[in-house]
Amino acid sequence: MPFSKLGLSEKVLAAVKTAGYPNPTPIQEQAIPHVLARRDVLGIAQTGTGKTAAFVLPMLTMLEKGRARARMPRTLILEPTRELAAQVEESFDKYGKNHKLNVALIIGGVSFDDQDGKLMRGVDVLIATPGRLLDHSERGRLLMSGVELLVIDEADRMLDMGFIPDIERICKLVPFTRQTLFFTATMPPEIQRITEQFLHNPVKVEVSRPATTVDAILQQLVKTGREPHDKRDTLRRTIRAADNFKNAIIFCNRKREVAQLHRSLVRHGFNAVALHGDLDQSARTAALDSFRNGESKLLIASDVAARGLDIPDVSHVFNFDVPHHADDYVHRIGRTGRAGKTGTAYTIVGPGDGKAVAEIEKLIGQSIAWAEPPAGAPVHAETQDEAREPRREGRGGPRNRHRGHRNESRGPREERVTPDRTHAPQIQAPQAHVPPPQVQSPRREQRQPAPVARIEEARHRPSNAPAREPADHGNDHLPAFLLRPVRGKA
Ligand code: AMP
Repeated sequence: MPFSKLGLSEKVLAAVKTAGYPNPTPIQEQAIPHVLARRDVLGIAQTGTGKTAAFVLPMLTMLEKGRARARMPRTLILEPTRELAAQVEESFDKYGKNHKLNVALIIGGVSFDDQDGKLMRGVDVLIATPGRLLDHSERGRLLMSGVELLVIDEADRMLDMGFIPDIERICKLVPFTRQTLFFTATMPPEIQRITEQFLHNPVKVEVSRPATTVDAILQQLVKTGREPHDKRDTLRRTIRAADNFKNAIIFCNRKREVAQLHRSLVRHGFNAVALHGDLDQSARTAALDSFRNGESKLLIASDVAARGLDIPDVSHVFNFDVPHHADDYVHRIGRTGRAGKTGTAYTIVGPGDGKAVAEIEKLIGQSIAWAEPPAGAPVHAETQDEAREPRREGRGGPRNRHRGHRNESRGPREERVTPDRTHAPQIQAPQAHVPPPQVQSPRREQRQPAPVARIEEARHRPSNAPAREPADHGNDHLPAFLLRPVRGKA
């Protein structure tokens, strides 16, 4: 069905045309007519499905009538993180460029007074994180009694972040008669309860099974050794050896690890920025901007910081830590292979990660292939043994098998970075000894699009260890894209 048949206004259709979208995505096609008919909507969709436009486009259409009053926003969008909130604001800029709407962002880490001034002037669309929104409300600077439409986005992430009590409070502050649009990637029982409590006879729109793995992503496991520096070494080698590398998000389980890994990668000459909860807003924005505009090729992030961020062109995802929750794996790798592009997700697996990997494989319903470790990468004997275990009933062959160690703890593994100055390389002058960047492997070019075929292919692919990985220290031969100057630390 074309956009023109969904009931959107002329102004919105013009903006969609400018955005270059040929057709609505499934969630847009299914949700937009119901939103315009003022129904509550329960959207079960991952990021990357076009769900933001599924609520922004009809909201713009509906907001063309009426105007805002001081301190009484007409619509309210709740987002779990500041970055997601800022991203939704950008969507209003993009799709609402033919409208004259007042859009305000109410997030932590920025001036309260500036936000207050905006609220005073009257707001058509208020995009907020729950904590700061409640601050304004409790100070009497914001009245939610005029909210006609409430969007709760990334609800399952709100749950992970402990925001559900705040969401419940906010839902009680907005009028009972408002329309509610509720988006979540998964439906754990707590989220189910919230939807039953706060949605009125919602239309359920589900665009893909929760917790399925995006098909366009080649997934691989990379063995590493026991020590923290082994993991970092394996990561560096895997990045350098990666085919068709453009840029990557590297996930760690904890914000402290994000900061440590960032320092380590920068020390090794990589052009990297970091994103985690301890950074102030301007540092987070600078890091994201630098990654989005291609200045930095690596973004190191925690799950919370990166959740839902729309960075369309990520070629690779590296799980530096195997995530503690299998769901997070799906969200992480979903950062690549977006908007019709293919992507690759590497998960670095040390001894002790077996159980977590087994849970991921169970959730996604498939085994993940082992990549050949890049040449010279440290591989602990135990990790290799895991890969050699006999075939499990009904699951892949011995080479891509991975069984968890039942007695292993899945708790977070603390990584202690011992700055190893002797290993710190001199960053080479750009272009010196640099191989042509982004040389594409012919095998990779011929890859079949079907995920199973792609994984099969990866399994039999010869080692992708690069000739350009002479040593881990001293005189690393880095690809050109990693040798751009680092623009300040995030
Ligand atoms: P989201 O799931 O909202 O994070 O959107 C993911 C990406 O899809 C964004 O970069 C959007 O610009 C893009 N997008 C949204 N709607 C469409 C569409 N109808 N056709 C193509 N791309 C779209």
